[in-house]
Amino acid sequence: MENLDRRPISEIEQYQESELQKLLLYLSDHSPFYRELFLKNNIDPAKITLAGLSSIPPTSKDNLQAHNMDFLCVEKNKIAEYCSTSGTLGAPVTIALTSNDLERLAYNEYCSFLQAGCTSEDIFQLMLTMDKQFMAGIAYYAGIQKLGASAIRIGSGNMPLQIDSILNNKPTVLIAVPSFILKLIEYAKENNIDLNKTSIKKIICIGEAIRNADFSPNELALRIQNNWNVKMYSTYASTEKQTAFTECESGNGAHAHADLLIFEILDENNQPLPAGEYGELTVTTLGVEGMPLLRYKTGDICTYYNSPCTCGRHSLRISPIIGRKQQLIKFKGTTLYPSTIYNTLSGIEEIKNYFVEVSLNEINTDDLHLYISVKDEKADTQQKITEMIRSSLRVLPKISFISNDNILSLQQNVSNRKLNKFYDKRKTEKL
Ligand SMILES: [Zn+2]
Repeated sequence: MENLDRRPISEIEQYQESELQKLLLYLSDHSPFYRELFLKNNIDPAKITLAGLSSIPPTSKDNLQAHNMDFLCVEKNKIAEYCSTSGTLGAPVTIALTSNDLERLAYNEYCSFLQAGCTSEDIFQLMLTMDKQFMAGIAYYAGIQKLGASAIRIGSGNMPLQIDSILNNKPTVLIAVPSFILKLIEYAKENNIDLNKTSIKKIICIGEAIRNADFSPNELALRIQNNWNVKMYSTYASTEKQTAFTECESGNGAHAHADLLIFEILDENNQPLPAGEYGELTVTTLGVEGMPLLRYKTGDICTYYNSPCTCGRHSLRISPIIGRKQQLIKFKGTTLYPSTIYNTLSGIEEIKNYFVEVSLNEINTDDLHLYISVKDEKADTQQKITEMIRSSLRVLPKISFISNDNILSLQQNVSNRKLNKFYDKRKTEKL
C-alpha cells in the first residue's frame, strides 16, 4: 500500500495494473468462488489486464449472499474479525477480515482523514455505531489511531452524553450520520447551547448524502449549515468494499484511494461508461486478504470525474450517489430514488419525522406512501406540506399524517442500522 493520490495518472495505472495481476492470481489460488467463475468462463487470470477487466463477469450482491463463505480466501483461524453488512437489501452478508485487512482498513481511513484535512492534532468524537458487527466504527477508530490523533467513542444516540463530551472534551471533528446532527442542533437549541461557539471545526458525514448531483449542498446539508457554520465532508463506503471514498477540501467529488481499489461505472450490459455518464458503481478491491472482490456491483448509481482536482490529487472522484439501482421507484410516470424523497422531506421545516413505503399495486406498478409527523399542528400545516411535496417531486404520493410515536414504531420494524425510514414492500411481495 502506497498513497498514490498525487502521482501522475500513468504511474497510478501502472501500479493498479500490477496489483490487479496479483489479485487475479491470488483469487485463482485461494477463492473457491472466483476459481469456479474463471473455469466456467474460460478465463486465464494470468492474461487479464486493466483494459481487459470488463471481460470478466461482474459479481453481484446475490452471489455474495448465496455463496458468502466461498469468497473466503484464508483458513478460518486467520480471521481476525467478522463484520456484517447492514442488510439494507436482503439478508446481511458476513465480511471476514484478517489482521492484515484490519491494518488495510486503518490505512484506508488514515488516507481519508488526510484527504479531509485532518491531522494528529485533531480530536474525533465518534457518534456512530461502534458494535453490532459494524465495520465503519472500527475503521474510523483504527484510522484515528494511525493518524496519531485522539478518539472519543460515544457511539450512536445518547444526545446528553454527546453534548457533554463536546463541551468537556472539546473534540474538533465529529463523525456522524447527518440527520443525527440535525437532532444535535435541535437538542443544543433547547438547552441554550451555541454550537458555533464549540470546538467543532468539521463533520465527517456517513450513511447519508449531503450533496445534490451538482455538488451543491442538499436540503439536509442546508438545514445543518443554516444553523451551524461547520465544514462538512461527504464520504461513501460499504462493508463489502472495505474502502471509503472521501471528499477533499474542494468538495467536488469523493476521491477513490487508487492503491486500495479499482472502480468502474457500468451500463446495463456491464460495460464501462466514460467519465460524466451515470451507471452502477462496480469495485475491485486491492490488497484485501480475507474476502477480496472482483468487479463487485454495488447497486449504487453515480458517475465519475477524471479532470484534475483543485486539491492537486490525481485519483479519480465519484459523484454523489443519486440512488440505488434496486430502489428505483417508477411512480405515475416519474422516476424517483428514495434519496430524492428524503431530500424533499428533510427540506420541509414543518416535518418532524417521516417514513417512506413503496409497494406494488394491482397493475404491477409502484405505489408510494409517505407517513409524516409534524412539529406544530396548525390549521394549514398539512395542506402546506402536501403542496410542497407535490411541487418538489412533481407527483403527489399518498400521504398519511400520523403521530411521531407511530412513525418511530414504523421505523423500528425496519432492520437497518443506518437508514430506517424506507420500507420496500415490493421485495417481499415479489417472493
Ligand atoms: Zn480533491
